[in-house]
Amino acid sequence: LRSVYASVGALNYVGAGWRNARVDMEAYLELMALEPEIRSSAVPVPLPAGQAGGVTLEMRHVSFGYDPERLILRDVSFRLEAGRMLAVVGRSGSGKSTLARLVSRLYDPLAGEVLMEGVALPALSLETLRAQIGVVAQDTSLFNATVGENIAYGRIGASREAVRQAAEAAQLGAFIDRLPEGLDTLVGERGVRLSGGERQRMAIARVILRNPRLLVLDEATSALDTRTEEAIQQELLALSAGRTTVVIAHRLSTIQQADHILVMDGGEVVEEGTHHELMEKAGIYAGMWRLQAGGGSVGGHSDVEG
Ligand code: ATP
Repeated sequence: LRSVYASVGALNYVGAGWRNARVDMEAYLELMALEPEIRSSAVPVPLPAGQAGGVTLEMRHVSFGYDPERLILRDVSFRLEAGRMLAVVGRSGSGKSTLARLVSRLYDPLAGEVLMEGVALPALSLETLRAQIGVVAQDTSLFNATVGENIAYGRIGASREAVRQAAEAAQLGAFIDRLPEGLDTLVGERGVRLSGGERQRMAIARVILRNPRLLVLDEATSALDTRTEEAIQQELLALSAGRTTVVIAHRLSTIQQADHILVMDGGEVVEEGTHHELMEKAGIYAGMWRLQAGGGSVGGHSDVEG
């Protein structure tokens, strides 16, 4: 339990004149209960300093199942150089989100290894690991706390000024100005409700503030209107510059820009390469692309699968 309390401590932030964040303990402990087997290394290896612009990330023959009897990932391998972008595509249920969870070490593989800067993740302290990773997921959860406290989540001692700047950079400035108490307005169940786009921007502001070397993006499928979607797309692209990025990708524009693409099916990597390589191959990926051109989406929740 010690690591739980240490992590809870890390959720608090104390800026000039700021009170400690009111952490929604119930939600937090619920989250911790989801990952009971994940332990911080007792003798952690320090993470090599590496390059400023990201970390190398590698999976070596990773297999995993939430239930060991039913494998969700089978023998997945890839290597991503610092600052590069990996796009993971594939139909719904193919294991894309699961792959992203193993990168963040929400679970450990049943076989194989995930390595950051050449170090297997269990050898790092969880604190070190999580400090390197920023996640922007489709459904970002917010604490029952103020806008400012939510943005500062995970970064100890962020100043009010830094929080404000991150909010501006995430295009939340005008939104915050309209709130009755600005950054001090409560959000969540007991406060102001945020739209899907605003929640994503909150997640983007968090990442800007924390400045992680590895970014994990779960691209929105349908929750946002097209204009918000395009704007957020641009912001995410800017956010990924100079960081290693793993994106669960649904947009062709993102996928085309990726340095490497993994095409997943049934938990396996069935094709991989760059967009051009995969198009020339005229296989599964090229087929998805044709369908998308006809109005579907690449992987995810479109009606062209099944
Ligand atoms: P989508 O595009 O729909 O988000 P995905 O490719 O990201 O799908 P995953 O979310 O990784 O796929 O799910 C792969 C399989 O693992 C699915 O069969 C799903 O039911 C199962 N699964 C996902 N999360 C869990 C979990 N927490 N516990 C048990 N099974 C899970």
